[in-house]
Amino acid sequence: MDFSFSEEQLMFRQAAADFCKEVEPVAIELENGKEFPHDLTRRMAELGFMGMVIPEQYGGVGADYLAYLLVEGEIAKTSISLSMTLGAQNSLVGLPIMNFATDAQKQQWLPPLASGEKLGSFALTEPGAGSDPAGMRTTATRKGDKWVLNGTKLYITNGAVAEYLIVWAKTGEKPDGKPLISAFLVDKAVSPFKVGTVEHKMGVHASPTTELIFEDCEVPAENLLGREGDGFKVALITLNTGRLSVATQCLGLAEAAYLRAKKFAGEREQFGQKIWEFQGVGFKLADMITELNAAKALVWHAVWLKEQHGLSDPRFISMAAQAKLYASEMAERVTSAAVQIHGGYGYMREYRVEEFFRSARLMTIVEGTSEIQRLTISRWEMKA
Ligand SMILES: Cc1cc2nc3c(=O)[nH]c(=O)nc-3n(C[C@H](O)[C@H](O)[C@H](O)COP(=O)(O)OP(=O)(O)OC[C@H]3O[C@@H](n4cnc5c(N)ncnc54)[C@H](O)[C@@H]3O)c2cc1C
Repeated sequence: MDFSFSEEQLMFRQAAADFCKEVEPVAIELENGKEFPHDLTRRMAELGFMGMVIPEQYGGVGADYLAYLLVEGEIAKTSISLSMTLGAQNSLVGLPIMNFATDAQKQQWLPPLASGEKLGSFALTEPGAGSDPAGMRTTATRKGDKWVLNGTKLYITNGAVAEYLIVWAKTGEKPDGKPLISAFLVDKAVSPFKVGTVEHKMGVHASPTTELIFEDCEVPAENLLGREGDGFKVALITLNTGRLSVATQCLGLAEAAYLRAKKFAGEREQFGQKIWEFQGVGFKLADMITELNAAKALVWHAVWLKEQHGLSDPRFISMAAQAKLYASEMAERVTSAAVQIHGGYGYMREYRVEEFFRSARLMTIVEGTSEIQRLTISRWEMKA
């Protein structure tokens, strides 16, 4: 198996690393503040990052999926919030439009996303429906040439700043009584919705997590994404790939924490020697880098399976869930170890490892909790 990256992939990763040099001076303030970084988001758009997965004919840069992941992971090392914005735009909104929209919809929706003129959000979760989206209460009722949406979505990444949404709603019931779920493209300028509570979170502060309220929100009939009743398929295929995006953010967080811990352990002295020379610290570093590389291998393997066999292949689905499960739990362990290696310094904001730990803690929850990944893996493995 060839583990080398193409020249183009390396070029994109370098462009992301260069961009991070611009972010670095404000990164602590950014990740601990409350402001959405419109200027840096615009800068990501100028560099083409907001349309990484969108083909050139729709205004994107048409990079391959691995190049996009490399950019996202690189940015996560400096700002997880900017990386989350990139993930929402590309993985959670751009890709489902690419995979399920009609050509007319692609012409309309993709160029403003690719240029960063419009920010996108993925609105699936509700107060009573997280791991089990079938429990959703948001409805869409057909009235003439419109769908009328009513309901509340919760914990929506960038919901406060997004103007383009993909929203899931119940459009009826199947003969077996199960809900018929459909996905809709919603443009705030045409179909206004309210932004409710902006959540106070443990971390990832420069990516607002928001409640969205739909009250008789009229959406043009042609904004149905896929066919009526395709909602689960749109969500699942999007989340299967999205797992790799989260996993790559975990690689970025863990690598950033590992490198800081390595540097600190190589400089800090106690009892007359560098602390890495104590086996208790040196072995911690050894475990951190081993786990990080194991997670990388899982992620790159899952990408390879996607390229070889496509999005619906059970081997890809299981491996993507394994990559997300392992990388997110690895990131939690590695960032926590980085705090420990820093001692008291690790608890202080300026060393950043406490921030990486708080950010990593999110990753076993979003886009399918660890328990849901285990459920997915065991189901596909038992079917195989
Ligand atoms: C910062 C942040 C950003 C987010 N961004 C978005 C977004 O952009 N769009 C969006 O739609 N959602 C978003 N979410 C929501 C996120 O995807 C959900 O929080 C997640 O899917 C879990 O759902 P829940 O919170 O309702 O927990 P629940 O589903 O209620 O789960 C609670 C606990 O029960 C466990 N559990 C549930 N079912 C099972 C089962 N069958 N077997 C074993 N254990 C189970 C879970 O693993 C978990 O430990 C975001 C959340 C956060 C915190």
